[in-house]
Amino acid sequence: CSSTTPITATFFPGDGIGPEIAESVKQVFTTAGVPIVWEDHYVGTEIDPRTQSFLTWESLESVRRNKVGLKGPMATPIGKGHRSLNLTLRKELNLYANVRPCYSLPGYKTRYDDVNLVTIRENTEGEYSGLEHQVVRGVVESIKIITRSASLRVAEYAFHYAKTHGRERVSAIHKANIMQMTDGLFLKCCREVAEKYPEITYEEVVIDNCCMMLVKNPALFDVLVMPNLYGDIISDLCAGLVGGLGLTPSCNIGEDGVALAEAVHGSAPDIAGKNLANPTALLLSGVMMLRHLKLNDQAEQIHSAIINTIAEGKYRTADLGGSSTTTDFTKAICDHL
Ligand code: NAD
Repeated sequence: CSSTTPITATFFPGDGIGPEIAESVKQVFTTAGVPIVWEDHYVGTEIDPRTQSFLTWESLESVRRNKVGLKGPMATPIGKGHRSLNLTLRKELNLYANVRPCYSLPGYKTRYDDVNLVTIRENTEGEYSGLEHQVVRGVVESIKIITRSASLRVAEYAFHYAKTHGRERVSAIHKANIMQMTDGLFLKCCREVAEKYPEITYEEVVIDNCCMMLVKNPALFDVLVMPNLYGDIISDLCAGLVGGLGLTPSCNIGEDGVALAEAVHGSAPDIAGKNLANPTALLLSGVMMLRHLKLNDQAEQIHSAIINTIAEGKYRTADLGGSSTTTDFTKAICDHL
């Protein structure tokens, strides 16, 4: 894409703190002169029978058409008869891999200075298949599905990511010693793909040991690929290593080249509407989206402005120990730009 041709991208501001941090992204992107036209889609107030959820069919069509989007957090309304909003997006758009880079932010001190890893989570199956039932009273069953096709697809994505992002190692995270068939198949697929990438070191790490290694020395890891539930847990653990959920971005990768970037955190109802949210995670997700679109100059400018604002320490939101509002912090980033 040339940096002067406007690109249309779908934007889901989402719920809770979503609209506040979405506004921050729009301001920063406008200040940086990013050539993006946003197509806003809000979570509906009624169930759309075509999607069986509060997400409208038109909003899904918008992502399919634009192939790129940014998503704020979405709280699934409690009740029966509809699907989780996030699950609807993943299933309908076939978002098969969730990529979560996690790195120490220069200027924001945590226990570690050298975290620089990427978790790649299988996003469509595993324990999230939604197949749960009661066998007899007092006994319930949840079915974990692992397929060869989904495992090969996410493994291929992980190795390709490693190769194209100058990474040296891929670790497959598993519990195949206990879940011999499901995680065993996942590992078999990772091994098959690893053979096609001799330049990338491949290793297998049991999940419990992985957790211990991550909190003791996160620099031991580079790219980690894993089934759905392990990815959910490990990526939040990794967010904790670098300063919390207000900082960590992600991008969902779908078939047909769809990329839907989103913050790792949820809608934070405890601070919603108070101008307290840290927009960094959504902003950095926006930066991932820009890199996906090869708008690398703008991506680097915005990334540096965020890092410099946090490192300067004058404007920080409460989750990072500061007292700035979302709008003050956003303005400081715009001033850096
Ligand atoms: P949460 O991530 O919303 O909040 C956890 C804690 O982190 C809260 O104390 C919150 O104030 C804080 N926090 C989160 N993001 C922050 C930010 N940007 N700045 C400052 N502080 C921040 O998790 P939760 O409370 O378990 O979930 C709330 C709702 O969000 C639930 O309905 C859940 O289903 C939904 N959720 C959605 C997504 C998503 O859309 N991808 C992800 C997780 C949870």
